[in-house]
Amino acid sequence: MADPIVLPPLPYADSALAPVISAQTIGFHYGKHHKAYVDNLNKLLEGHELAGAGLETIVRETAGKPERAGMFNNAAQIWNHSFYWNCLSPNGGGQPSGPMAQRLEQAFGSWDHFKKEFAQAALTQFGSGWAWLVSEGGALKIVKTANAEVPFTKGQKPLLTIDVWEHAYYLDYQNRRGDYANAVIDKLLNWQFAAANYESV
Ligand code: MN
Repeated sequence: MADPIVLPPLPYADSALAPVISAQTIGFHYGKHHKAYVDNLNKLLEGHELAGAGLETIVRETAGKPERAGMFNNAAQIWNHSFYWNCLSPNGGGQPSGPMAQRLEQAFGSWDHFKKEFAQAALTQFGSGWAWLVSEGGALKIVKTANAEVPFTKGQKPLLTIDVWEHAYYLDYQNRRGDYANAVIDKLLNWQFAAANYESV
């Protein structure tokens, strides 16, 4: 039998991101939502030709194929959530230093302008989805994706993301998605992870 897709461990304790994101939110989001995507995908992979393939391969091989939408949605959501946990850090947030600071300034003019644009992307994604900082040919861009969609199937390298599905913030912020996005930007974004993603091949 092919190796199943595994739920990766959270890189910190459930309570590590409080009070910006509560332990209760992380408990449901990681322990229920993220886990359910893993369980669903493993069921869909039983006896499937993609069983045993890596997660990123499964995402690429199912993207844009309506007959494989169920598999894509679960696989991409596993990828997105594993990425998202690493985008957050108890010691994160605020303005980065070093080359990332220069790249942000080059692309957005200033930290304040970047912050406004990223928060606006999070706020204006209609319905469920994700706000992303990506690198496209080395240039930084902010993009939004709906539902489970991922930028890397469109030639964009993800650097950071904010989950804007309601399950990501509703227990802590109710309908105030903008407050959640601004708090994540100010207090949690992991710029070391973003820089490593930028430099990765
Ligand atoms: Mn989520």
